[in-house]
Amino acid sequence: MRLVIAQMKHETNTFSPVPTPLARFARGAAQPLEGAAVRDAFKGTGTAIGAFIDLADQAGAEAVYPVAGNAAPSAPVDTAAFEAMAGLIVDAVARGCDAVLLDLHGAMVTRTHDDGEGELLERIRRVAPEVPIGVALDMHTNLFPAMGQLATVIAGYQTYPHVDMYETGLRAGKAILSNAKPALAFGYRPMLPHVMRQSSLDSPNKEIQARAKEMEKQGALAASFFVGFPHADIPYAGSSAVVVTDGDAAKAQALCDELLGMAWDAREQFVYRVEPLAQSLRRAKDMGAGSLRPVVLLDHYDNCASGGTMDTMAVLGGILDAGLEEAAAFAICDPQAVEQMKRAGVGARVTLALGGKMDMPAIGLTGRPREVTGNVRRICSGLYRNEGPMARGELADMGPAAVLDTGKVEIAVISRHVEPHDIAAFRALGIEPEKKRYLMLKSRVHWRAGLGPMARAVIECAGEGVCTSDYSKLKFRRVRRPIFPLDPA
Ligand SMILES: [Zn+2]
Repeated sequence: MRLVIAQMKHETNTFSPVPTPLARFARGAAQPLEGAAVRDAFKGTGTAIGAFIDLADQAGAEAVYPVAGNAAPSAPVDTAAFEAMAGLIVDAVARGCDAVLLDLHGAMVTRTHDDGEGELLERIRRVAPEVPIGVALDMHTNLFPAMGQLATVIAGYQTYPHVDMYETGLRAGKAILSNAKPALAFGYRPMLPHVMRQSSLDSPNKEIQARAKEMEKQGALAASFFVGFPHADIPYAGSSAVVVTDGDAAKAQALCDELLGMAWDAREQFVYRVEPLAQSLRRAKDMGAGSLRPVVLLDHYDNCASGGTMDTMAVLGGILDAGLEEAAAFAICDPQAVEQMKRAGVGARVTLALGGKMDMPAIGLTGRPREVTGNVRRICSGLYRNEGPMARGELADMGPAAVLDTGKVEIAVISRHVEPHDIAAFRALGIEPEKKRYLMLKSRVHWRAGLGPMARAVIECAGEGVCTSDYSKLKFRRVRRPIFPLDPA
C-alpha cells in the first residue's frame, strides 16, 4: 500500500495586513519540509500528521511526504506559495497511490482562491478521481461545499484549545485505512460564532462537541462541528458540520443536522459582549493586590493565531500607564526592537519605540509604537519545543527574542508570530509566569491549553487589532447574508 501524507495549513484572516509568502510555512527555513524530513519532524508529535505517520507505520505502508507547511494565521496566501505546495501534493498523487491523508486547516484563502483546500482537492481529483482522501481539519474550518463533495472522510478537532490534533488525525486516517465505506454528509447554519465564545471548555460548544464524540462512540466514523473562523470575508465563513458514517448516508445527514440544530439553538450564547478597556484595567488593578497566582490580561484583539500583527500596544500601554507591577507580557512581535536590544546587549538600559510597526488598513488603524524604557534582561534564539498539551513535542520558533524589563513589567519581544499556549515559550525567555501577579497574553482561547491551570482569574482586554471581537469594526462585503449575528435571526 502506498500513501501520500501531506500537511498544508493556514487560517486566513482577510482583514490581516501580515503577508503570507512560502517562507511563512517553513518555520524559519527557506522552504517547507519535504520528504523524509517531514517524517523526522513529526513522528512522535501530537499532531494530525504525526497520527498519519503512525497509522502508515502500523499498516506497514509505504508513505511519501511531498510537503509539510504550517503558517501562523495571516493575510491571504501568496499564489506562488499555494502553487508550490499544492503542486508537490498533486504531483505525488499523480505518481500513483492507494490513499491520500491530508493535515489541512480548512480556512485557507489564497490571493487567487477563496477556498484553498477545495482547490487542492479539485486538483487531486483531476489526477485521481477515485482515490480515498482523508482530511483532518481545524475546528476553525470555513467549509466550502467543494471540501464536503470531494473528500472521502473529514474529521475535525473536537477541542478548543486544540488538544486533540493527534486523535483527529487518527479518526480521519483510520476511517480511510479500514474496510469501511464512508458516507459523508455536511451542512450549514448561517451563523458567525465569536471566537471568544467558541471554547469547548465552555457552553455551548462544550455540549455540541460532547454530542459529536458520543455520535462516534455510537458508530459514526467521524462527527465534527466546525465553529468556523469569522475574520474571513468569504461566502462560506462561519459554522458548519460534517458527519461520516459507515455506509449510511441518511444517518450521516440526520446526525449532521442534529449538530447544526444544537448550534443554531444556542446562537445567542455564541455572541460576545465587549467591555471597555479602561474598565477591564481598573478591575485588574483591584484584583491584583495580594495575588499569588497570575491574573491573565487577555489582549484578544491582537492574537497572532488569528492573524493579528502581534504588535499593537493598546493593552500593554494601558498596563504600563496603570502602573501594574510584577507583570509579564507575551509578546510584542518587533524584529527591529529585538535587533536593537541585541546590539545593546544583556544588562544595557535602552529606550525603544516598541511595537506599532504595522498598519491595519482593513480596520482603518495606523500602527503606533510606544516609547518604553527598560533593561535588556535576556536574549535568546527563540527556538523551543512545546511541552503540551497542545501540539506536544512540536518545535516552535518565535525567532530571535529578548526580554525588556521595565522594573514592573517583563516584556517578551519576539521576531516571529507564536501564540502563547505553552509554558516552554516563557521558559525559553527565562520568565516564570506562575510567579507573576499579572500575565498579559496576546491570545484568545489557546492560552488555556498550557497556561490556564496557573491563572487565578482572566480579564478580557479589548485593545486594538485585526482580531477585534467587535464585528462592527469589520467591513463584511462578501460573506453570505443573512448571517447571525450580523443580521437578526
Ligand atoms: Zn483553530
